[in-house]
Amino acid sequence: MDNEQKFCDFCGRPEEETGMLIRGAYNDTFICDECIHAAGEMIHASKKERVQSLAFELKKLPRPSEIHAELNRYVIGQENAKRMVSVAVYNHYKRIKNHFSNNDIEIDKSNILMLGPTGTGKTLIAQTLARRLQVPFAIADATVLTEAGYVGEDVENILVRLLQSADYDEKKAEYGIVYLDELDKIARKSANPSITRDVSGEGVQQALLKILEGTIAHVPPKGGRKHPEAKMVHIDTRNILFICGGAFDGIEDVIARRIGKKEIGFGEKQQSGKHLDKNALLAQIAPEDLIEYGFIPELVGRLAVVTSLEELDAVAMIRILTEPKNALVKQYAFLMKQEGMTLELKKSALTEIVRQAMTRKTGARALRSVMENVMLDLMYRAPDMTGVERVVIDAAVVKGEKDYVFAGPKPVKKTG
Ligand code: ADP
Repeated sequence: MDNEQKFCDFCGRPEEETGMLIRGAYNDTFICDECIHAAGEMIHASKKERVQSLAFELKKLPRPSEIHAELNRYVIGQENAKRMVSVAVYNHYKRIKNHFSNNDIEIDKSNILMLGPTGTGKTLIAQTLARRLQVPFAIADATVLTEAGYVGEDVENILVRLLQSADYDEKKAEYGIVYLDELDKIARKSANPSITRDVSGEGVQQALLKILEGTIAHVPPKGGRKHPEAKMVHIDTRNILFICGGAFDGIEDVIARRIGKKEIGFGEKQQSGKHLDKNALLAQIAPEDLIEYGFIPELVGRLAVVTSLEELDAVAMIRILTEPKNALVKQYAFLMKQEGMTLELKKSALTEIVRQAMTRKTGARALRSVMENVMLDLMYRAPDMTGVERVVIDAAVVKGEKDYVFAGPKPVKKTG
């Protein structure tokens, strides 16, 4: 059999006319080096075409002011963060366009770190962006990441969602944006990194660094741990923009120490002065604070833009309740309208809801559950009621001291 003349099953040339003939695993089929080369070219050309169509889709770039305006419809305050993110996304688009216009100048990407207390709008900014983005977008969480080989998820899994959001087109995923939440959870825990292996800290940071810098990541398309037999998708991460977020609890003390201020206290009572203090300190964040907090310098170096979000005060919380396009008050008013009732929340009610929410120390996140508590009984009873046109809620109702005030078809004198 080995003495038989062999031919390439694709171009038909005999073995001696080829540089190399490779035998297939089944049925004694062969392919020559030139056919392999030609097939590779075809695959490359088709990928290039797809990516060029992506660049074409980006023809009309939204300006930073337009991205900012969209963020404004949903996110109250946090001006710095909104501006920085708007510029970063705009530059990301420009970088993609530039990449396909044969320009000599390669624009470096500017990954972003948004830090600030929980419930102040970091994820909300990312989610609002996602709605309008023209490139694949995914939200991932750093808490589940561990070094390869440990229980948990490989860092490459961050890219699985991006791949899904790109309809499994890896070339499109290579120009996507990832929001990586809870980055602070992979800070090194121990002060001295060399004493013990820090599974959840430095090793993960190293793995993440590679992806942020740009690497060819081998991604299992369906996620999960890597198996030797699973088919991997290769994603070049050089052009993926990373927006990271995290609460970075206690980093204000690191900043305070650096700039030589007395540490701000951990007293139980939050005075409003302390609020300001914390916001003012966070606004002065510098790369060395992140290193001190437990991040490797190389990773910090890859987060070119660092912006802090402010702790929300009562005024901002009331605005959050009422102003955004999908504000909670608007949502509940809509629900009550479907029962034929107008919902009237007095200023005193809003203030009380905010007061209760602020005691939970989870930022604006607490507003929903406080509001739900206030509305639950009403939502239970309203469908059984007839002839009620208005329902009025004031601070006493929120505190549970009295029932809602129902008003009949003809508006009666306002209460509250
Ligand atoms: P985190 O900063 O911890 O990522 P989120 O962005 O998830 O917080 O905020 C939780 C919820 O609180 C959001 O879904 C949104 O309803 C509300 N919220 C938080 N901050 C703001 C803000 N600045 N403007 C409007 N709503 C906000």
